[in-house]
Amino acid sequence: MSTQAPEQPVDDLYKIRHSVAHVLAQAVQRLWPTVKITLGPPIDYGAYYDFLFDQPISEEDFPKIEKEMRKIINQGQTFRRDDLTAEEAKKYWKERKQPFKVELIEDLEKSQHITEVTHYANIGLKGEETFVDLCRGGHVESTKEIPADAFKIMSLAGAYWRGDEKREQLTRIYVAAFRSKKELEEYQTMMEEARKRDHRKLGKELDLFIFSDDVGPGLPLWTPRGTIIADAIETLAKETEAEGGYLRVRTPHVAKGQLYEKTGHLAHYRETMFPPMKLGDDEGEYFLKPMNCPHHHQIFASGLRSYRELPMRLAEYGHCYRSEGSGALFGLMRVRSLTMNDAHIYCTEEQFEEEFNAVLRMYLKYFELFDIKKYVMRLSLHDPKELGKKYVDAPALWLKTEDMVRSAMKKSGIDYVEVPDEAAFYGPKIDVEVWSAIGREFTLATNQVDFDVPGKLGLKYIDKDGSEKVPICIHRAPLSTHERLIGFLIEQFAGLFPLWLAPVQVALIPVAGAHEAYAKDLERRMKEQGIRTQVMDPADSLGKRVREGEKWKIPYLLVIGDKEAESKSVAVRNVSTKQQVTVPFEEFVAKTAEDIRERRLRASIG
Ligand SMILES: [Zn+2]
Ligand SMILES: [Zn+2]
Repeated sequence: MSTQAPEQPVDDLYKIRHSVAHVLAQAVQRLWPTVKITLGPPIDYGAYYDFLFDQPISEEDFPKIEKEMRKIINQGQTFRRDDLTAEEAKKYWKERKQPFKVELIEDLEKSQHITEVTHYANIGLKGEETFVDLCRGGHVESTKEIPADAFKIMSLAGAYWRGDEKREQLTRIYVAAFRSKKELEEYQTMMEEARKRDHRKLGKELDLFIFSDDVGPGLPLWTPRGTIIADAIETLAKETEAEGGYLRVRTPHVAKGQLYEKTGHLAHYRETMFPPMKLGDDEGEYFLKPMNCPHHHQIFASGLRSYRELPMRLAEYGHCYRSEGSGALFGLMRVRSLTMNDAHIYCTEEQFEEEFNAVLRMYLKYFELFDIKKYVMRLSLHDPKELGKKYVDAPALWLKTEDMVRSAMKKSGIDYVEVPDEAAFYGPKIDVEVWSAIGREFTLATNQVDFDVPGKLGLKYIDKDGSEKVPICIHRAPLSTHERLIGFLIEQFAGLFPLWLAPVQVALIPVAGAHEAYAKDLERRMKEQGIRTQVMDPADSLGKRVREGEKWKIPYLLVIGDKEAESKSVAVRNVSTKQQVTVPFEEFVAKTAEDIRERRLRASIG
């Protein structure tokens, strides 16, 4: 926004979306001349703009705003940059009764000591100014470059000025904007499908988790059905980690403040931690743990370690607590209590690359199991300007560790992108973004390198030559948290989970009372094989029970009548493929048990 600030890297789509925000604000100002304008950044599917209206507006106003926007686009307005002193700019906005713009400039003067700002004016065909905004640039040349059939006003939302609930409540207008009509339509289809697959909606319909007002927002409670999924994932993690040479630990949910002072969490992470608890005057303060690492570090430090014990890999499905603001909470995706597929690998510098790559291989294995086909690994680096503030002040170690991770990534052959200024405070990290089956993006897992905290906590090992050294620590959570992963999987599978994850794997539907005994017998024999079954209430009609089984998204529905009882077979309805086949019961059990054991994505019968 100030002329000193570096221009953001912009691509064509960014320019379109940023320009759309100007067009939206201009259209709104034409329709409601007294509206107060604030800010309007581009976002990942378009842009939004926050306004203060005299009268509330509604969705019914969308068509007329869109019509006005189309007019502006078709006029082919250009953008003109004007450099002003901060004083001139403040005078300009005061005269036009736009107090939010004045406040923005005053803030820039205070926080960044700027003395000049830039305005961008839209210029109409006759050279007239049609709209002016405080902005640092990155627009199309002419509004004609904005595809007039590839934008759409999506929604309204309330937003406080500067996110401060004591300030004015503004109206935020969201616009989707793309390069082509086709892309816009694809986006709308995806959003429609996402609404159907919304993990909050399906979580309720399939009775997987609940929130309770008395327990508190952001604190999910897993129901018996949801717990089956979480347990199946935990079993997968424990098996995989046992194969990978991990050792399991268990640690408490709280710790004394002095621990987090030593680790630096209180200095760098305090606003994300729950406020302290006091037990007694001589006890000091306790905190709910925001991460498991400090506890695991204590276990590593509890003995005199030799290089022979390294790498030491300590794993725990650890419960952590973070004090997310109530406005930021979102279903299972943004919560205050999380159960993390956590582990800390303590290793030497020579072991680092192999350990790091073993973690990456673990990611790839999991992606296959969960049918994740598209993903991106982002290597998040530090920003030298933030050393001593956001990041521990150790410039040489940052560069060295970042190089180690870069080199490990290159050797792994996995594509990655580098992103500045997104590292953890103690070291670089890999964030893994994945796309669900309907093309929506999620940040799922992280893999972080810590060159700082082990030293601060006095972690060490005795090396071959007898000298004391500080181990490197790799933090990894490939299965993310139960909350985030299961939220993702609900959307990924639209609630119809693969057999190994499904809360009920097989529903039994006896056609009539006479077949109930056979159904019970089959149920008992499936239970012996560890198959989760349910006999559908015989009081209901056959059709209703089939629909019920489909509603609960049970992978297999077995219909059992005279023919089946006689021939020791079952009529199998595969809810995913909608195919129905009759197979001998023994074959059904054997194949189903194998699908579950092998964690196959698709059930093999029907
Ligand atoms: Zn702009
Ligand atoms: Zn950690």
